[in-house]
Amino acid sequence: KGTLYIVPTPLGNLGDISQRALNVLADVSLICAEDTRHTGQLLHHFSIRTPSQSLHDHNEKQKAAFILGKLEAGSDIALVSDAGTPLISDPGYTLVSLCRAAGIKVVPLPGPCAAIAALSASGLPTDRFAFEGFLPAKQSARLTQLEALSDEPRTLVFYEAPRRILDTLADMETVFGPERQVVLAKELTKTFETIHGAPVAELQAWLNEDSNRQKGEMVLMVAPAPKQEELPKAAVKLFLALAEELP
Ligand code: SAM
Repeated sequence: KGTLYIVPTPLGNLGDISQRALNVLADVSLICAEDTRHTGQLLHHFSIRTPSQSLHDHNEKQKAAFILGKLEAGSDIALVSDAGTPLISDPGYTLVSLCRAAGIKVVPLPGPCAAIAALSASGLPTDRFAFEGFLPAKQSARLTQLEALSDEPRTLVFYEAPRRILDTLADMETVFGPERQVVLAKELTKTFETIHGAPVAELQAWLNEDSNRQKGEMVLMVAPAPKQEELPKAAVKLFLALAEELP
């Protein structure tokens, strides 16, 4: 049987491709790409001539069975997406779960991922975090999701599109309050890389000051919910004792 390699690709800076990624992409017999034209440019840049086929959200179910057949027959295959790590808000889940169920070896290469890069420079707690991907486009669904996360004790990490960033921040202010610290990481690894943190109300003002700040690819991170104030144990004891004395 062949092996399926999961190969992360750069978020913007081509220098972030790993030597191992280049070796695997050159050695496999087929590359499954989200967009073959986009990946074609990357392969061309590195003079890699491996053929590629598309595997995206709309054809993954049919394509996965075909690719599984090739792996069963002994071909090694690499899975890439347009940028970053496949399967992280990107196609590949159906293929990987099918392969694992069929006993095909799945080998992940570590590499670029916008969520991890953003988190590592955010200044927010990194010991525990929750990756939430993209919020729903519809406001009612988005508010419901944010409400479910309002007491979350871990740092929250979202992917967001420029056209929705202001609406999302307005909803975050409604649900989390204007003081909750948020950090926006934009255009990571690219020329206009910017990482800006502020209370959610101030971040909206910062974005409104200059419409260029609203552009580009972005990761939005939210500080954990503040801890509920707990009374010291002795105070609770005293309170209960006093309560007993009350008529
Ligand atoms: N699989 C990718 C990864 O590992 O990061 C993410 C794919 S998802 C379809 C695309 C989203 O990732 C963008 O909308 C943006 O939120 C985030 N993203 C991708 N590249 C980025 C970059 N250079 N800077 C900031 N965010 C980025």
